[in-house]
Amino acid sequence: MSVSQLARSISESVTLKLNETAALLREKGEPVIHLGGGEPKSRAPIDAIVSCTAVLNTGEVRYTPPDGIPALKKAIIRYTEEHYRKLVSPDNVIASNGAKQAIMVALYAILEPKDEVVFPAPYWVSYPEMVKLAGGVPVAVTPEDGSFHPTIEEIAEAVGPYTKAVIINSPNNPSGVMYSRDFIAEIVQFCEKKNLWLIMDDTYNRLVFDGKTPVNCYEFVTQPLDTSKLILINCVSKMYAMTGFRIGWAIGNKELIRAMTNIQSQQTSGPSAPAQWAAVGALNGVQSSIESLRMTLENNRNVMIERLRAIEGVKVVKPDGTFYCFPDFSAYMRDSNRLAALLLEKVRVVTVPGKEFGMEGRLRLSFCGTVKEIMEGIERIQWALDPNAPNELYLGTRKLVRDWL
Ligand code: PMP
Repeated sequence: MSVSQLARSISESVTLKLNETAALLREKGEPVIHLGGGEPKSRAPIDAIVSCTAVLNTGEVRYTPPDGIPALKKAIIRYTEEHYRKLVSPDNVIASNGAKQAIMVALYAILEPKDEVVFPAPYWVSYPEMVKLAGGVPVAVTPEDGSFHPTIEEIAEAVGPYTKAVIINSPNNPSGVMYSRDFIAEIVQFCEKKNLWLIMDDTYNRLVFDGKTPVNCYEFVTQPLDTSKLILINCVSKMYAMTGFRIGWAIGNKELIRAMTNIQSQQTSGPSAPAQWAAVGALNGVQSSIESLRMTLENNRNVMIERLRAIEGVKVVKPDGTFYCFPDFSAYMRDSNRLAALLLEKVRVVTVPGKEFGMEGRLRLSFCGTVKEIMEGIERIQWALDPNAPNELYLGTRKLVRDWL
């Protein structure tokens, strides 16, 4: 086969593949529990739907400016002012097809071939592949103390003459940890000092728990916006449960945004018009759905953590935010691909192997489903792994006998 070297170097999105596998098994009537998912199950805000259908009802759905419609940019500017206390202009904003495209286009705009991009592990599965797609080299930094908190010294050690950018995602997918205020301050200052681009992926920063508040990276920026190399990424996907609308955005200096706009204009043009209007509706509408989702997720997290801690040998760090946790199952099996495959095959629980996020011995478990799914999913995992659990388990009417321990 003669696909390109680039195509051969890119692997498929494991999380999207798992969604497909779960859907296929469900279609066959299998009692699958999906703890691998990456999207809230609540409905999109009504203001999003009303705003979107208003455009559809006109029957005139046209191309939009490649960097987004003015109404969406205005809503994003207002959002940035409210949540980051930062005043930006339309030239500092680009709306894209999800946070994913915003990051991708930013990487295209800043990387020369073989430039390195540094990010802490565990990391969102897509970062290494996106960096490679843009011609760069991904460099993951694993905290030496076994925690999910990298130190600035560890990041600094990974930075060399070819480093062009750092990506920070807090709260973090998959660990759920939120990096400390001090760390964010240090990384912003470090990148300014070293003249590096800093991509702050704030996709989950409205979904934080225990009364904590997200850290505002702009508090530590000393350079004016139009010479700053900080790129702030956000999206409606998670906070408004609008993953399928595919709207995200980047805030950055004018020159960068112009370059990103040119690239996006040749790549996909502006994001779909109805989706942009849906995002306008969500951003300008009643905001109560975020708090309601946040509270549901906090409760779900508590249930999941309590159940996981009841499994002997499983170590888990309580997430500060997101809807993921990243427990350590190495007491049972270190090979996370094998473990995830075993759980899917034997007890029909979908999980994501830790290896995909740069750490073995772990699985990413999502708590964005229902409490019932979480409890049953963890019960099945416990049953599959713990030799002290009873020998039989019922999946619906099907009796399972554990014969693999
Ligand atoms: N960043 C992180 C850390 C994510 O987890 C995701 C989605 N899983 C994205 C970006 C992409 O978000 P979107 O769906 O808006 O493209």
